[in-house]
Amino acid sequence: MRLADPKAGLESRRGGAGPSDHKALTIDGVTVMAPVHTAPAFESPYVIDATDAEGRSRIARDGKTLGEAAFVMRPRFYDLTTADGVPYSKIAVLHGRDVLATTVLQSCIRYQSRVKTCQFCAIGQSLAAGRTIERKSPAQLAEVAKAAVELDGVKHMVMTTGTPRGADRGAAILCESAAAVKAAVDLPIQAQCEPPDQDAWFERLKAAGVDALGMHLEAVTPEVRQRIMPGKAEISVARYLKAFAAAVPVFGRGQLSTYILAGLGDPPEAILAMCEALVSLGVYPFVVPFVPISGTPLESWPPPTPAFMHAVLAPLAQMLAANGLSAAEIKAGCGRCGACSALSTYERALKS
Ligand code: SF4
Repeated sequence: MRLADPKAGLESRRGGAGPSDHKALTIDGVTVMAPVHTAPAFESPYVIDATDAEGRSRIARDGKTLGEAAFVMRPRFYDLTTADGVPYSKIAVLHGRDVLATTVLQSCIRYQSRVKTCQFCAIGQSLAAGRTIERKSPAQLAEVAKAAVELDGVKHMVMTTGTPRGADRGAAILCESAAAVKAAVDLPIQAQCEPPDQDAWFERLKAAGVDALGMHLEAVTPEVRQRIMPGKAEISVARYLKAFAAAVPVFGRGQLSTYILAGLGDPPEAILAMCEALVSLGVYPFVVPFVPISGTPLESWPPPTPAFMHAVLAPLAQMLAANGLSAAEIKAGCGRCGACSALSTYERALKS
C-alpha cells in the first residue's frame, strides 16, 4: 500500500523481528499490518490518503475510492522511560491494535553468519540503528507491560527471542521474562522460540505464566527450508512435530501455533499437507504472506499473489473449523492478533 502521507499513524518499525516496514491500520473493524516501506509497496496500485480531522483516511485505486481506514495511533506508553533511562518503545512495541510485542534477546546465533542466517530476518537492523536494546531485562519488561495495559488497554503480549547459545534455545530467558510480567500485571502471554532440547521446558514455560507457545517452522519443504533458513533448518520438521506433540498437553489444544511464510517456494499442496499434520496435533498453523523486508537478502523477493494466498487460506480455514481450532480461542499471540494474515478473516467468513 502506498502512503500519501508517510507520517500518518504510528511510526512504523524498520528492521527487527516480526513484521517490519509496516503500518497498522483498521479497515471495517479488522486491524491489519500493511507493508508500506517495502519495494512492492512503493509500486502498489492501492494508495492511502493523508488522515482527516477524524483520523480517517481514504483508500483508493486508480483514483477510485474503495473504502476508509483508520491508522493505529501512537500509544501513550511510548512517552515513558524506565528508571534506568531506556525509552519504553525500545523495550516493547505496539503490534496491530492491542498487542504488546517484544524481542527479549535482540541477537541470534544464526544471524551472525551470512551462511546460516534466515534470509528473511532483520533482527539485527533495529539494534544496529539504536531503535532497541539487545537484552530486555525481566524488570524492564514488567514495567512496560504494566504501563501498556494501564495506559493503552493492551490485551495480550508476544514475547519472541533470537536464538541464544545453549540447548534451551531461549526458553530460559522467556521463563524469567514471563514470570516477571505476570507478577506485575494480568496479561496473557505468547512465547515464541525454537523447540528446546528438553520437553520439560514446556512445563517450565507454562509454570512461569506463558499461556500460548509459538514454534515457527517458517517453511515446510526441505528444499525451501535449506535455501531460506540454512541454520534453522538444522532443526528438522520431525523435531518440531515431536515438540508440538509434547507441548499440546501442557498448553492445551489450539494454544500451540507455528508461522508458515507463504510465497517462499513451498507449493500450496505442501503447505496444506503440513497444516493437516499440525492441525491433527492440535496446533494452529498461522500461514502468513511473506513480506520482503528492506535490507535483507530477500528484499526483492516477490510477495505471493492473492490467488496463491486464497488457494491456501480458504481450505485451511475449513480444516481449522472441522478440527475445532480457531484464532478466537487462542489466549495470546500472533494467531489471536491475526494482523499479519487474512486467515482469521477466512475463519469468520465461514461462520457468517
Ligand atoms: S500477527 Fe503477530 S507479528 Fe503480526 S502484528 Fe500481530 S502480534 Fe505482531
